[in-house]
Amino acid sequence: MKPEVLKTLRGAEDCGSGADVMTAEQVESMAGTRWAAGTVVYYPEADSTNVRLRHLAEEGAPHGLLAVADRQTAGRGRRGRVWESPGGSCIYMSLLLRPDIAPEKAPMLTLVMACSAAEGLRDCADADIRIKWPNDVIAGEKKLAGILTEMSSQTDRINHVIIGTGINVNIKSFPEELGKTATSLYLETGREVKRAAVIGAVMRRFEENYDIFMETEDMSGLMEKYGNLLINTGREVRILKPDSQYRAVAGGINRKGELLVRREDGAVEAVCAGEVSVRGASGYV
Ligand code: ATP
Repeated sequence: MKPEVLKTLRGAEDCGSGADVMTAEQVESMAGTRWAAGTVVYYPEADSTNVRLRHLAEEGAPHGLLAVADRQTAGRGRRGRVWESPGGSCIYMSLLLRPDIAPEKAPMLTLVMACSAAEGLRDCADADIRIKWPNDVIAGEKKLAGILTEMSSQTDRINHVIIGTGINVNIKSFPEELGKTATSLYLETGREVKRAAVIGAVMRRFEENYDIFMETEDMSGLMEKYGNLLINTGREVRILKPDSQYRAVAGGINRKGELLVRREDGAVEAVCAGEVSVRGASGYV
């Protein structure tokens, strides 16, 4: 499963529509970034772009390298869940980062990507795109994109962080069960968008947001815009822990990226993403 091409992203700003055969050349022409997706590795098919990129990272691949696949045969979500990854219509991409920060700060990069994906998708489509804390991108109360962050570290330093992002772009239908919680840009807007343009838009936003994050190594500089995109604010949510759950009303996030919730007894708590899942009072959001 060798990469088909190794190329550099450059260029154009538009998010035009039309036939969407994703090629490295197309991806190459879209980002215009300094380093995020500065080099792109394109796979017509990959088991998982996170897995492909991990191998490249172990061989010394640089900060900013982006692995993109047309389809995945073993796409993954959190805790061994499956990410449905059909070919021809969606984005599966993984970005390699080598930040000089403490390992415990790395999970916040997931929120930086959620913010960037939501903003980049808004740049490409006229839809009310939001974030479900901490890292799902939502449209019409359904999941438009998911993010899986994986890290290799030693006690006090990071070897690398891989942020995998799956985005449902032009897919027109989902298997019945998944369709209850999943959506695509096409299903929300009735319009197709070139995947390479979407990747470029998300990478431009990520590069900008990463720089802001690195100034303080926390969410201080991004809290306001993340908060404005957050769909949970003011809503009743269920906080699902491995062995228990409780209901609360969600507020915004704090500078560590934790979700602030008010429990039924009035106590305010900061929820750390880790092993927790958040759901709406009666549905997914
Ligand atoms: P959590 O809130 O704990 O992260 P999650 O359901 O959002 O829970 P993830 O690990 O982020 O879990 O994503 C995997 C889940 O996403 C799957 O269990 C499935 O429900 C859903 N899913 C799988 N493929 C897709 C897809 N292509 N588009 C949208 N949703 C998908």
